[in-house]
Amino acid sequence: MLRVIDIFLYLKSHLGDGKTIIEPDLKLKESSRDRILDLIQHKAPTVILTHRNPDGDAVGSSIALGLFLKKTGVPVDVIIPNEVPDFLNWLPGSDLVSVFRQKPDACTKLIRYSKLIVCLDFNDPDRIGDIQELVSASEAFKILIDHHEDPVAFTDDLISEPWRGSVGEMVYHFIEAFSSESAIDHDMATCLYVAIMTDTGNFRYGCSYPDIFHVAGELMRHGIDNDQIYAEVYDSYSEKRMRLMGYCMQHKMVVIPEYHAAYIYLTREELKRFDHQTGDTEGFVNIPFTIKGMRFTALFIEKKDHVKISLRSKGDFAVNDFTEKHFNGGGHINAAGGEEYLSLQDTLEKFESLLPEYADKLA
Ligand code: 5GP
Ligand code: MN
Repeated sequence: MLRVIDIFLYLKSHLGDGKTIIEPDLKLKESSRDRILDLIQHKAPTVILTHRNPDGDAVGSSIALGLFLKKTGVPVDVIIPNEVPDFLNWLPGSDLVSVFRQKPDACTKLIRYSKLIVCLDFNDPDRIGDIQELVSASEAFKILIDHHEDPVAFTDDLISEPWRGSVGEMVYHFIEAFSSESAIDHDMATCLYVAIMTDTGNFRYGCSYPDIFHVAGELMRHGIDNDQIYAEVYDSYSEKRMRLMGYCMQHKMVVIPEYHAAYIYLTREELKRFDHQTGDTEGFVNIPFTIKGMRFTALFIEKKDHVKISLRSKGDFAVNDFTEKHFNGGGHINAAGGEEYLSLQDTLEKFESLLPEYADKLA
């Protein structure tokens, strides 16, 4: 039977761009739970969607939920806008994943025929690129399960818990709520553990509350191997990736002590030179934090037509607000990302020129 979950949903405000955002800390409405249960019982075709440039939380949560639905007999596909990085493609259940960029026609059909769409780990439909038009045109029942602040209202209902370190925990509770006895098995537990572990930097940030360790502990009961999972995720890079990391620290890291800030930047030519693979720069943005006193870090990666930006902070300097305001993005208070359409050099100059504006928060 379903667990009784508190129901609480109301619109909060309207963003300037016409998007409606929703009050956080919500649970699904009872009518939504009934609808989802009905769709699951009738084995309605389901699509799970997550954001582009998928990370461990996006992929792990999506596959875990996919494995659960598959186990209950639901035809299910996980659709991800672009490629899954190598450090995640060993996850059990990876065969459920279709990459939209590789198979746009097949993915379009799956979305069109689906009766239930579950969106995971993003708060704004912009993060699924062109897929958002298919989602908005779809008559499927749509829900969002996410932990970013200020989710945009683009689904029929949502679970929003911005205080959580990962969506992995939310999917754990979602599966528990929709199964009469715990349906979680070893493979689902592995995927959920990867989701939680990676999104908290190995339980380093955003996880100072008991439930996350409760969930991790419950996952351990399924016999998953922490050492092995850690090695699969973090000890599987190429030699070139490590050389690139060393090169960044030696030549491409700018430290600005007066603002307790540091950034790393890489050109396309450098990425090519080090035979860059998707996911290789994962974690680079955190490297400068090991310098005493650093509170604000950034990573700038030159792409074909834009610069991809990652930002991190320690304490109460909100990088999601900073990114939203200046670099077309968003995220969490201490971890955000965005894009800039200036040249790499101009982007760096823009970034440095913004720092004095935030002197009171950073200095
Ligand atoms: P990362 O720096 O690892 O790419 O992303 C850090 C956080 O920022 C993640 O929570 C991610 O969801 C969010 N984020 C990354 N890139 C973007 C973006 O382009 N737009 C928005 N809105 N959020 C982003
Ligand atoms: Mn996440």
